[in-house]
Amino acid sequence: MISSILPTYNRAPLSFVKGEGAWLTEAGGERYLDMGAGIAVNALGHANPDLVAALTEQANALWHVSNLYEIPAQRKLADLLVEHTFADTCFFTNSGTESCELAVKMARKYWYDKGEPDRTDIITFSGSFHGRSSAGIAAAGSEKMVKGFGPLLPGFVHLPYGDHEALSNAIDENTAAILIEPIQGEGGIRSLPDQCLKGLRDRCNYHGTLLILDEVQCGMGRTGRLFAHEWAGVTPDIMMVAKGIGGGFPLGAVLATADAASGMTAGTHGSTYGGNPLACAVGARVMEIVTAPDFLPEVLRKAAKLRQGLEGLVAAHPGVFGAVRGEGLMLGLKCNAPNTDVVEAGYAEHVLTVPAADNVVRLLPPLNLTEGDIAEALTRLDRAAARVQAGSHAD
Ligand SMILES: *Cc1c(COP(=O)(O)O)cnc(C)c1O
Repeated sequence: MISSILPTYNRAPLSFVKGEGAWLTEAGGERYLDMGAGIAVNALGHANPDLVAALTEQANALWHVSNLYEIPAQRKLADLLVEHTFADTCFFTNSGTESCELAVKMARKYWYDKGEPDRTDIITFSGSFHGRSSAGIAAAGSEKMVKGFGPLLPGFVHLPYGDHEALSNAIDENTAAILIEPIQGEGGIRSLPDQCLKGLRDRCNYHGTLLILDEVQCGMGRTGRLFAHEWAGVTPDIMMVAKGIGGGFPLGAVLATADAASGMTAGTHGSTYGGNPLACAVGARVMEIVTAPDFLPEVLRKAAKLRQGLEGLVAAHPGVFGAVRGEGLMLGLKCNAPNTDVVEAGYAEHVLTVPAADNVVRLLPPLNLTEGDIAEALTRLDRAAARVQAGSHAD
């Protein structure tokens, strides 16, 4: 008999009823240190008092009106995003997947309106993840995601990650856009070197191709800059955002330059819930906190501490960990033992991590975790590694 919940997830036997900062509590009182933060979503920790206040204030005033009318909280969040990024304009969604849908539509409409209706191809890369909709799985193209779900949305050109020659050969007059994550999350915390992102920007400029960055996981302060591409000193034409932007409330966005967005006139796109007052009130508060002058330097300081500790764990447990990867508080432990064993051993030591492809364990903690949380995480991961080494990870 099928479960009342469609069985598409492999869930751990953990059930949390309360959260506070970087900690989660089960009904029986057991506490777990959350170094996954709902997969980079709870950027400011659980039950953050500022976000709870923003949400309850809005909840007491107005929940929903639809995009038939002006939404002040939406305007406020859009203005903040435009003020702090490359973007001239934003569209609000409820998830990363929906942001992918619009990014693809926007790029194609751009070329259609420029009189190049056949310019519809979007180049993507192996190991990427852009969501689970028909466009999202077609964009990623991995067998695991697409098998059985055909016919796929056409127009995606899949290239091996890091293959510069393949990229040179693939860009042609039908290339509407290049779509890439500055740091692959699901793909195993694989960072695109700054030089490569610059090179991609140059190629896009040369061919007039649009550059779409998927910063759903690596954006919103996660790398110590508001958005990861800032490290490379280049800007995209279109950017997908979600996860951390709502601090735990479902919220996504597509940010774009005025030029890239020029095809998206009234009636070309829409969403019932996108830009909802509750989501935007929380999102605006998240933006205010993350863009406060001291916030990102503090993320970098803590990230350096955590990274240094993780390097120590790699040295201490070479049979379990091979290397530390990633930027800021988007870190990966490339494992020599099965990554799922490490995650399970973490459960036994009450520290939550997230597996990724390429045998990596991800650490995506709240950006405002404390020094004490970092020390605790390192102690627990050390014990988890010892369990894996001893072959008793699941006890
Ligand atoms: C999570 C993720 C998505 C999909 O976001 P959802 O909110 O799950 O739809 C897209 N791209 C990247 C890089 C992600 O990490």
